[in-house]
Amino acid sequence: MADDSPASEPTAPASTSAPAAAPAAPGAGWRPSTVAVTAGRPPHAPDQPLNPPITMASTYRAGGDVEYGRYGNPTWTAFEEALGALEGGRALTFGSGMAAATTLLDLVGQGGTVIAPRHAYQGSLVALGDAELRGRLRSTLVDVTDTAAVIAAMEKDEDTAILWLESPTNPALEIADIETLASAAHELGIRVVVDNTFATPLLQRPLDLGADIVLHSATKYLSGHSDVQLGALVTADEEVYAALKSRRDLAGNLAGPFETWLALRGLRTLHLRLERAQANAAELARRLADHPAVTEVRYPGFGAVVAPVLVDADRADLMVRSTRLWVHATSLGGVESMLERRRRWKTESPTIPEGLVRMSVGIEDVEDLWDDLSQALDRVAF
Ligand SMILES: *Cc1c(COP(=O)(O)O)cnc(C)c1O
Repeated sequence: MADDSPASEPTAPASTSAPAAAPAAPGAGWRPSTVAVTAGRPPHAPDQPLNPPITMASTYRAGGDVEYGRYGNPTWTAFEEALGALEGGRALTFGSGMAAATTLLDLVGQGGTVIAPRHAYQGSLVALGDAELRGRLRSTLVDVTDTAAVIAAMEKDEDTAILWLESPTNPALEIADIETLASAAHELGIRVVVDNTFATPLLQRPLDLGADIVLHSATKYLSGHSDVQLGALVTADEEVYAALKSRRDLAGNLAGPFETWLALRGLRTLHLRLERAQANAAELARRLADHPAVTEVRYPGFGAVVAPVLVDADRADLMVRSTRLWVHATSLGGVESMLERRRRWKTESPTIPEGLVRMSVGIEDVEDLWDDLSQALDRVAF
């Protein structure tokens, strides 16, 4: 990791990298659903609002911990407390998942190597490739399901700074053995990042499995209503936290207070949305496997993304154009069910099948979802 000393003036006062003011702590030992509902509230005092207001402020009266809008915001702090409590670390909010991802890449020292999944989120891979092209760093792409091969890649390259994991991967839905890989990485002095967007902290807590940093596109499940662009990083390592905070202060890749407020409002129902979406996904994965138009169903057994593979691109294109309830759109994690053929994107990995359709299962009635899917699939089963 690069040093975190400020590169230029003006910059944050020293006090801003200190821990935020003590939160209105959720009860010790409360379970995740209770934490999702209660964390990040203002102090429990008469006439305080129950939930944080949207604080629109570019500056604050001098002498406190925040001072200026780029260094902190009470609405960010509320969301950060809630996400931090769910992931078991301290969170930082960013303007998008990609703002969080590129902030992480900024911490790789000049010429360092990032090992990443060949089927990670395309934006992350494009950002890695772009940084490599500019001579900033090097990247090695691996099959994250092959634990021995990932460890061998780390051992082979002593310049490796970060092992970048995503599990399940987007859109291949592969699973990495985070615990084994993190312990191998640490023996080699390598930091481990896990993009936890698909699993959310309710299904997987990477910091508990040994990861150093968790990345979220809060645009997806955490916000949950397809109306917010937001990102976050979470770590339990104070040194890493200070380095990330310093990058955010300097790069200014900030979240809007309104977006952050919407995300916290969405987070309050994450457990309910996920429970319903997961149940729908499991049932649809079962039914899809029996449909003659489907050659394979990718489904990791948890989460709410399912990826049926159709024979070819034409049939998959016809299917996604034939739904009425399912929305043909990119993105995922909203209350509404959506689908798209991933290879329609030129940047998608060529090892993703042409006929793979990524389905983000929402919280509608599963019978309506199936009726719509099966009529679309019947059209292509020729
Ligand atoms: C969408 C996504 C991102 C990028 O997040 P944005 O909020 O769109 O910038 C990163 N990782 C994964 C796994 C994603 O699905």
